[in-house]
Amino acid sequence: MNDTKGTLYIVPTPLGNLGDISQRALNVLGEVALICAEDTRHTGQLLHHFAIRTPTQSLHDHNEKQKAGFIIGKLEGGMDVALVSDAGTPLISDPGYTLVSQCREAGIKVVPLPGPCAAITALSASGLPTDRFAFEGFLPAKQSARLAQLEALAEEPRTLVFYESPRRALDCLKDMAQVFGPERQVVLAKELTKTFETLHGAPAAELITWLQEDEDRQKGEMVLMVAPAPKAAELPKAAVKLFLALAEELPRKKAATLVADAFDLKKNALYNLGLEG
Ligand code: SAM
Repeated sequence: MNDTKGTLYIVPTPLGNLGDISQRALNVLGEVALICAEDTRHTGQLLHHFAIRTPTQSLHDHNEKQKAGFIIGKLEGGMDVALVSDAGTPLISDPGYTLVSQCREAGIKVVPLPGPCAAITALSASGLPTDRFAFEGFLPAKQSARLAQLEALAEEPRTLVFYESPRRALDCLKDMAQVFGPERQVVLAKELTKTFETLHGAPAAELITWLQEDEDRQKGEMVLMVAPAPKAAELPKAAVKLFLALAEELPRKKAATLVADAFDLKKNALYNLGLEG
């Protein structure tokens, strides 16, 4: 590592509550020569609030490839630079990947600061298993591609974490209920750190009803978390055998309901059995 080069700092910013900025983030933002921001006007408001006067440059999805070379030039010349996004941790469903990978290739030091991230914040209060989880970012906007991606995750043994826009949340939940089964537990975390912060968990079908009951519930930024797929090995062998036989003749939901009632099991523990392989 060449010490005459500058350092790139990855600086998380609040998800909504300005009190969540760290003292170290403020120090770095105040001390670097340049701040690369996803939206310079948005970051300008944050900097203004904290009386930080460091100049900013835009770095977003559409100009990152061109801008990365310019910023690396500044770093090579000895300038320290901070990277921020509109909210949360840069690079987590946000710009910065090209810049960071090129910096590391060029031997430029990259220093990450810990801080707010919607996925981790939501997961920590979800009540779902946190020992293993898979961050899936945003699902595709097109329904066929979304269903295909969900199908590939139907047997995932880790908690799944998705980002979603309020516009698509309901459609996305309907697809989840279809692919994972109406009984799979889903937790929605919205407006984290803000006034109307809400965490609500329920089986997928019930969560859809809950969202439909009140349009306000569909508003705001949200994280959707899905419980791991139930393990077939934990089910009585006779129940698995009966379900697989009935599912050949009946809709899966009906077969799951019948077997779940007979063996005193949860429907979603059966619903996805045999879908893969
Ligand atoms: N880099 C950010 C992070 O560290 O979380 C995520 C940026 S991504 C473009 C924006 C998405 O993050 C939103 O669509 C939503 O899914 C999630 N998100 C951001 N802020 C949130 C909040 N306050 N509450 C819930 N979800 C949030």
